[in-house]
Amino acid sequence: TTHLVWLRNDLRITDNKALHAACNEPDARVLAVFIATPQQWRRHDIAPRQAALIHASLKQLQQALEQKGIPLYCHQCDDFAASIDWLTDYCAKQQVTVLFYNRQYELNEWRRDQQVEQRLAGRVRCQHFDDSLLLPPGSVQTGSGEMYKVYTPFRNAFIRRLTESDVRCLPAPQPRAGALPIPDAPPAFEYSHADPGEDFPAGEQAALQRLRAFCRQQVQDYLTQRDLPAIAGTSSLSPYLAIGTLSPRQCFNRLCAEHPSVLEERESGAFGWLNELIWREFYRHLMAAYPALCRHRPFIAWTDKVRWRNDESLLQAWQRGKTGYPIVDAAMRQLNNTGWMHNRLRMISASFLVKDLLIDWRVGERYFMSQLLDGDLAANNGGWQWAASTGTDAVPYFRIFNPTSQSERFDPQGTFIRKWLPELADVPDNDIHQPHLWAQKQQLVLNYPLPVVDHRQARLETLAAFEAAKQGG
Ligand code: FAD
Repeated sequence: TTHLVWLRNDLRITDNKALHAACNEPDARVLAVFIATPQQWRRHDIAPRQAALIHASLKQLQQALEQKGIPLYCHQCDDFAASIDWLTDYCAKQQVTVLFYNRQYELNEWRRDQQVEQRLAGRVRCQHFDDSLLLPPGSVQTGSGEMYKVYTPFRNAFIRRLTESDVRCLPAPQPRAGALPIPDAPPAFEYSHADPGEDFPAGEQAALQRLRAFCRQQVQDYLTQRDLPAIAGTSSLSPYLAIGTLSPRQCFNRLCAEHPSVLEERESGAFGWLNELIWREFYRHLMAAYPALCRHRPFIAWTDKVRWRNDESLLQAWQRGKTGYPIVDAAMRQLNNTGWMHNRLRMISASFLVKDLLIDWRVGERYFMSQLLDGDLAANNGGWQWAASTGTDAVPYFRIFNPTSQSERFDPQGTFIRKWLPELADVPDNDIHQPHLWAQKQQLVLNYPLPVVDHRQARLETLAAFEAAKQGG
């Protein structure tokens, strides 16, 4: 028998359900494949930095699997359609008896997997697993069997379910006997080149190390530090979770190992962090329940009638970090330069695009995706629909962030702002949030743009636009 593991968003050997199952039979020949689909990635706006992180992770994964006696072949074709053809042929050539894979819940990925299973039916048995979540989609439902639309009751039901479920981690496979064909190293992807940077070293060992250190030394301060972008107070594990070099079970089990009473101590930093992992689950469960979310549909239908502003120069000012609102600009420059952005800043900059510039949230969602190392359809869409007030359990449309007071509150001394906006180095702490006012008083000209909109005015226009849409457009 030949077992084939099809790796996708699960680039690790420990706690990998499909890989573990494929290795259960001691006599089976186990092969692994990864199929890069650059054209499809372009259609999905995958960030070149994320593709580079995938590539670097694959190199490490290939070596780790090699030590277990499992060859990993990396193949490249255009898109999902081509990958289906290639995989079907490959299964025939290698006389594969069982195909193992971990499910992806995005619509195109889900359809691709359905088609693969249809094509292989009768020849190759297919076994799939819910691996990228603590609990499978559909397993946390209301009394009437529906997906929760509000987060807090979802979380409460989720935790009840979690305590009844087996979410232990699975070990890496044992080394397998037999001669090993040595596969070629992963070919360079035909994709825009980018350097993933040094902040996120590739591979599961790097991810596990970061997880251990965070759970041991930092998570207790999570609630007081998580909203301050000048401090590294969050785990920075999102790029690893997004491509699956780390699993949520590993996160949860490590958290419990360091903080055994996490579920009882709801005011603790440990619980606060678990809460974020559950937001990740919430958005994935929602996406699986409402595939329209993958087709750029808002959750609240009437919000589709908002008359968005189609202004290229405002959009560019936002993308380039030149809006004249320092916190927004520093955030966008962090994103452009590193591929990562602090959560508080994602909320502020998303809100700014939608509620101050009145630009369609989907434009921002795409731009984030095209830059983020941790780009993840469910979390990104969830975050944008939250900020744009188009999502389920989103911020109500009439509650609009004031970028200046957000800045004063979460970056009081402007430490984060100064890091990314060296042109504001000389502005005093108290004035850094509105440097143009200070420059005016000092009769100075700053090498920094004036605000592209007036927040008070913009707020009124946005309220009017949402209200008109609500009345029927
Ligand atoms: P931590 O605070 O340490 O949280 C631990 C993990 O929980 C994260 O790694 C992440 O996997 C998950 N998580 C945390 N917050 C959220 C959240 N609000 N929603 C879903 N999952 C969460 N996260 C992504 O992983 N990919 C995205 O593409 C993405 N786009 C976003 C877009 C917007 C507009 C907003 C507001 C949020 C977005 N987020 C996204 C959620 C969040 O900002 C990041 O997960 C977080 O900043 C990652 O940093 P961290 O690993 O240090 O998080």
